[in-house]
Amino acid sequence: MTKKTVGYVQLEWECPSCGTRNKGTDKICRSCGAAQPDDVAFEQVAQETFIEDEKLIAEAKAGPDVHCPFCGTRNPATASQCSQCLADLTEAKAREAGQVLGAHQNKAVPDVACTHCGSMNPGTALHCTHCGAALPKPERAEPAAPKPKVKRAAGMSKTARFVLFGILGLVVIACIAIIVLSSRTEEVVGEVQGVSWEYAIAIEALTPVEDQDWRDNVPDDAEIVSCREEVRRTQPDPAPNSVEVCGTPYTVDTGTGVGEVVQDCEYQVYDDYCTYTALQWRDFDLVSLTGDDFAPEWPNPVLAQDQRFGESTESYEVYFNADGQTYTYRPDDLAEYTQFEEGSRWILEVNTFNNVRSVTPDQ
Ligand SMILES: [Zn+2]
Ligand SMILES: [Zn+2]
Ligand SMILES: [Zn+2]
Repeated sequence: MTKKTVGYVQLEWECPSCGTRNKGTDKICRSCGAAQPDDVAFEQVAQETFIEDEKLIAEAKAGPDVHCPFCGTRNPATASQCSQCLADLTEAKAREAGQVLGAHQNKAVPDVACTHCGSMNPGTALHCTHCGAALPKPERAEPAAPKPKVKRAAGMSKTARFVLFGILGLVVIACIAIIVLSSRTEEVVGEVQGVSWEYAIAIEALTPVEDQDWRDNVPDDAEIVSCREEVRRTQPDPAPNSVEVCGTPYTVDTGTGVGEVVQDCEYQVYDDYCTYTALQWRDFDLVSLTGDDFAPEWPNPVLAQDQRFGESTESYEVYFNADGQTYTYRPDDLAEYTQFEEGSRWILEVNTFNNVRSVTPDQ
């Protein structure tokens, strides 16, 4: 985030002795002459307008005012002597500064009636133009409070939660049951009834595939179909081809009676996001040979241009008969497969789901 200064505005403070509102730059009360104590904070005025006076702005930038250690009077940070008592200010304590006072108030405020003589005065006036009496603070044009979001039904009802936990519980029980049942095995003696094999090869072809990416990530051999500008990232500092996005301006106490209106900004950097087509190897076909003997062979398809062989898979199955029940076993490789001559007898370790876990010769 970059903090940007929008401008400087007058603040005000209320005299604790007589209740009069004074301009922020007034160091002593206009009505009773009391100095502003260091614990009396500056406040935002009802309607903030930007200060044009360069001297005031320079003072606001110079640092928070200091309070005279002898008489308490507020003096500019640059002063070496108190304006009231001429005391040395080298040990003087600086006012607190940097507090956020609130959102920048730039809306017009309604006129106020003088409580003393009844004359109407602009809402920004501190004193009655007719009789000079201190004016009450006008109703501030508060920014509309954000509407509280409609709270969505938070979480689930008790019943729904109960049902959900019930279902989860059943799923867990089912999983445990499957694990237990499939690990429980029994031995049966089976006779080989038949065998089969399947050898398959995938054929891949160079195929135009559409994809999207930032222009600098598009492969060199790709063909760009179209591009559009999109926000690629957001960063605190300005950059070429970026758009500044700033938050609501707010007023910060500088400790000088002048407020600094600032805005937090960030920069959305745009870049070309492109749709392109590029040739990629994709599965095109799968050719396979099958047989029921012990001499499997690989298919040998003729490749067209822009084609290549992909993944190849070999699979074997052996069918056993044990007391009228058929079991299928899948050997890992050809060497294992060729052992299962028709009519040979094997001890099968079979689980509850009739899956053959292992086989050993029946001797
Ligand atoms: Zn006063
Ligand atoms: Zn002093
Ligand atoms: Zn008046």
